[in-house]
Amino acid sequence: MVACMFAHFSIAQAPLKKPVVPKLVVGIVVDQMRYDYIYKYWNKFGEEGFKRMVNEGFFCRNTNFNYVPTYTGPGHASIYTGTTPSVHGIISNQWYSREKAAMVYCAYDKSVEPVGTQSPSGKMSPVNMLSTTVGDELRLSNNMRSKVIGISLKDRSSILPAGHAANAAYWLDKSSGNWITSSHYMKALPKWVNDFNSKELVKNYLSKPWTTLLLPDQYTESVADDNKYEGKFSGEAAPVFPHNLPALMAANGGLGLIASTPFGNSITKDFSIETMKAEGLGKGEFTDFIAISFSSTDYIGHQYGTNAVETEDTYLRLDKDLAELLKFIDTHVGKNNALVFLTADHGAVDNANFLIDSKIPAGYINSNRAEDSLKAKLFKQYGDSIVLSYSNQQVYLNYKIFERKKVNSPALEKMVADFMLTTKGVSSVVTATALKNNYFPSGINHLIQNGYSQKRSGDVAVNYEPGWVEYEKEGTTHGAPYTYDTHVPLIWYGFNVKSGSSDESFNITDIAPTISLLLNLPFPNGCTGKPIQQITGSK
Ligand code: ZN
Ligand code: ZN
Repeated sequence: MVACMFAHFSIAQAPLKKPVVPKLVVGIVVDQMRYDYIYKYWNKFGEEGFKRMVNEGFFCRNTNFNYVPTYTGPGHASIYTGTTPSVHGIISNQWYSREKAAMVYCAYDKSVEPVGTQSPSGKMSPVNMLSTTVGDELRLSNNMRSKVIGISLKDRSSILPAGHAANAAYWLDKSSGNWITSSHYMKALPKWVNDFNSKELVKNYLSKPWTTLLLPDQYTESVADDNKYEGKFSGEAAPVFPHNLPALMAANGGLGLIASTPFGNSITKDFSIETMKAEGLGKGEFTDFIAISFSSTDYIGHQYGTNAVETEDTYLRLDKDLAELLKFIDTHVGKNNALVFLTADHGAVDNANFLIDSKIPAGYINSNRAEDSLKAKLFKQYGDSIVLSYSNQQVYLNYKIFERKKVNSPALEKMVADFMLTTKGVSSVVTATALKNNYFPSGINHLIQNGYSQKRSGDVAVNYEPGWVEYEKEGTTHGAPYTYDTHVPLIWYGFNVKSGSSDESFNITDIAPTISLLLNLPFPNGCTGKPIQQITGSK
């Protein structure tokens, strides 16, 4: 009895050690990076960038987006909230709003003021995102003593990852070339941001032509530089190197041209390093969080496609920027004190004409024609404009006319769905009624359902066949439920991460709860993902 009591006593007296957590979390999103690029460019990468992360870190080789549409806004929101658009509400980059009877932008907020610019490009906040990010939970967990900051050329790729309670999100004002923010975060830019802006690095990066990093004939992973599948800068006769940036600026968005060059990634790296230094991230008592998104890969991918010398060159240059970032982390906090992950917000499809020429099924959807004929058919039948919008592959119908004309909504949805199915390149359709009344555990409709918000989405969702796009003939796009758009790299590195890889299937929504467990935090409040045990169990 005594021994028993004593044993009990000794357990109660065992010293409780607070589990060790990383000093700094660094989230890296590479916009439009496909999973296979890791291998496609492997032999050309240096030892200190992507290869260092793969070799020293843990590579989840089978990570996919688990919803459609695979666009930038939803991608960044899903990575950091650990849930899909059906919960966090960022159903696309922009969507049709029934209340406003207009398209709305995912990060636009008319109630905030630009900071660091007069331009409306500063009227941005996470107001449309309905759930918390892992950074929000980190801030809430310690009375706001952690610092959480988002950085990207694109406002949405900085704002949505950082979350609602972030200290700051910074993005690039394309007209001035300055890093800016909004009154959601602060009243004025910190001195160190003004100092960084006054260096005018954008001008500097654009002062010389974009030439190839390697000799032109070394780009054996890509098709010939001059080909019909690539878009051109205004004023260029062919989509070929060298791209004379100083001469191209005037006709291609002025300083905003930097976004469409690899140097947009370089300045993102420069500014991220400056942020970590100036804010002392990882140096305080509480874990800090920086969410970095490299956007130029997306602008360049859209313009040139997945097989271009320009795209390859951009990844080889990003590899160098990544190496510099990792080296900085080594000296700033030390690799073992930083938890780093790298992923992408979606992939990209090969140019459709390139696929067709390679005998792969593909095509171009003429969505304007489909929308016009749908409108004409319904107008003929009901004598009124029933279609409000066809956007993000969804048809929005006018409920007011339903009531006035006493139209049965499920029957009309079905008629619209059947009509859209007759469009060339459309593979399947599903109605809002079906999505509201059924649970789809797998397949395309599962992905549509995860991307479907009952309040924000349309009444009929349309899915295209693999390889089919709603896009111009040159360059490429993304947004589909197919592997070329859903399969992305996910590499964990640093703090307690053992080196290795897994071919187990993970969802993009598993990233946030994995970080939550490593930081001993509540999961983001809408989280539907599951922690990756190969990472949370690492010692
Ligand atoms: Zn993107
Ligand atoms: Zn894109």
